[in-house]
Amino acid sequence: MRYLILSDIHANWEALQAVLADAEGKYDKILCCGDIVGYGANPNEVTEWVRTNVALCVRGNHDKAAAGLENLEWFNPFARDSALWTQKITTQENLTYLRLLERGPLRFGNMQILHGSPVDEDEYLVGRDDAEQVAYYLDVPYSFFGHTHLQGGFACHRNGVRLIQRPALNESHREVGLEPGMNYLFNAGSVGQPRDADPRAAYALYTVGEPLLVLRRTPYDIAAAQKKIVAAGLPEFLAERLAAGR
Ligand code: ZN
Repeated sequence: MRYLILSDIHANWEALQAVLADAEGKYDKILCCGDIVGYGANPNEVTEWVRTNVALCVRGNHDKAAAGLENLEWFNPFARDSALWTQKITTQENLTYLRLLERGPLRFGNMQILHGSPVDEDEYLVGRDDAEQVAYYLDVPYSFFGHTHLQGGFACHRNGVRLIQRPALNESHREVGLEPGMNYLFNAGSVGQPRDADPRAAYALYTVGEPLLVLRRTPYDIAAAQKKIVAAGLPEFLAERLAAGR
């Protein structure tokens, strides 16, 4: 089975289309680690696409916010504005889908998908310290998470945790060799709002049984996504940050 792993699409239709074109023919099933909506201007189009095409998806904090399951007081002003706009524009059918998304981790075989961390769906795994604290709770070798919008992740061993590097700015992809005896926490990166100083859309490809995982980046029509955000009356900062990848 060949998996396409997506996370943090954030209602960015242009980025999603670019990822699908780049990954064409390289996967059988699609997994999603949450945050389908929020920030971007196409929540309905992206949610409908996920409903039709994604085999397994966990909820993210922005999906909860759109569905009315999150206290928006804890959101920063940009996130709050976009959550309220998303609630207004999203159809009842799509909101129901977002409301019923399951909390991670969702396990299957020797893999699991989750949004934040294996112990708390809203926690951010940013640095090695964060990964060290949750490594003990990993009982499957391959975990896929999101939430930070930082592609890469961690290779966890009982003797310590190693950082997994994302592709450099001049690379389209990076192959990560998989070693036995490790528990991996992979972040596929954000499709629709990367924050790791690389504005290209991020995703991952994993084939069961193969000794490597591929982290990929692909350029997309950022200007088109920005134009829609501004035209929707969403905060301009949300458009600007797409070009910076921060
Ligand atoms: Zn997110």
